Amino acid sequence: SRYYTITEYPEGLPGEEIFRLREEALPELNQGEVRVRNTWLSVDPYMRGRMSGVRTYIDPFELNMPLEGAAIGEVVESRDERFKMGDKVRHMAGWRDIAQLKGDELEPLPGHQVPEQAYLGVLGMPGMTAWTGLNRIAEMKEGANVLVSAASGAVGSLAVQLAKAKGGQVVGIAGSQDKLDWLESRGVTAVSYRDRNARELTEALQDACPDGFDIYYENVGGVVLEAALNCLRTYARIAVCGMIARYNDEQPVPGPSNIANILIKRARMEGFIVFEHWNHYTTFLDEVGPLVERGEIDYRETVEQGLERTPAAFFKLFEGSNRGKMLVKL
Ligand code: NDP
Repeated sequence: SRYYTITEYPEGLPGEEIFRLREEALPELNQGEVRVRNTWLSVDPYMRGRMSGVRTYIDPFELNMPLEGAAIGEVVESRDERFKMGDKVRHMAGWRDIAQLKGDELEPLPGHQVPEQAYLGVLGMPGMTAWTGLNRIAEMKEGANVLVSAASGAVGSLAVQLAKAKGGQVVGIAGSQDKLDWLESRGVTAVSYRDRNARELTEALQDACPDGFDIYYENVGGVVLEAALNCLRTYARIAVCGMIARYNDEQPVPGPSNIANILIKRARMEGFIVFEHWNHYTTFLDEVGPLVERGEIDYRETVEQGLERTPAAFFKLFEGSNRGKMLVKL
């Protein structure tokens, strides 16, 4: 098996030098174990948090041990009667080509008429995150005006489309022209945050939606959050999904100076971790699966080829050069 590990916990933006590709012969399977040849690996922003060496809501990666992450693969050998050769499965032993796991750590793929890698993106953890943040945390209602940041990414792109389907005005913030064009193609009013300070971004958001927002789906933090706080309606709800602009900070930075708008607008700002809502995964699949099968949801993917490109795929999340879900194809 070839796998990636990290040799130190980086400060700031991680570089190639902390990643090592290692090779190790796998032992014979024990009773109850399954060997999987991975076909797709997921790289996700939360992995940066696991590279910081401290426990947040999840343990840090262990130095010099195989990294972990969602992956899809095919069973090649099994000593668990629930799995046979050729079965397609999802598990958390990513960042490697061959994974050896207990049967309990594997999940058969649900059977929608979609490409298998959709279960790492639009019908997997990021999709479930978009649906949870919008519906369960921000309590999306018919006609609500919704603002989404990192709006063309894996999470954001489903959040804007689900919001759009329930009416109201939907505004998406993204960082490049082709992302803005994609948002507009889905009927979403697109606003760039590039080269704008909080005041300029506030003005751009006010132009896009003069009535203000009932929901802010927060993925970015920093200046983008500051501008969003200026554009809240009374009783707004803010689903705090992520703050990717902060993940590579070496020092704590001052927060938005206008955080008091949460009080003035009697807004509710609530953080959430998608794994704590996983008992609703089948409800999500029943609702969103058919939309994806019918082509009503446009989900994009950026694919790097080969295990060796996994670190590069991960860096793209922070450069913003991914379009939709960032994946590695083995
Ligand atoms: P994306 O596919 O959205 O990729 C990351 C995107 O973030 C980039 O393409 C880039 O888009 C944007 N970005 C990166 N750096 C910055 C920056 N400094 N300022 C502004 N934008 C930036 O990733 P995901 O959809 O997987 O994740 C989106 C968010 O959701 C993240 O914050 C992530 O941590 C969070 N998340 C939270 C979960 C939870 O349980 N709470 C679960 C899953 C994800 P652009 O070019 O537009 O800037």
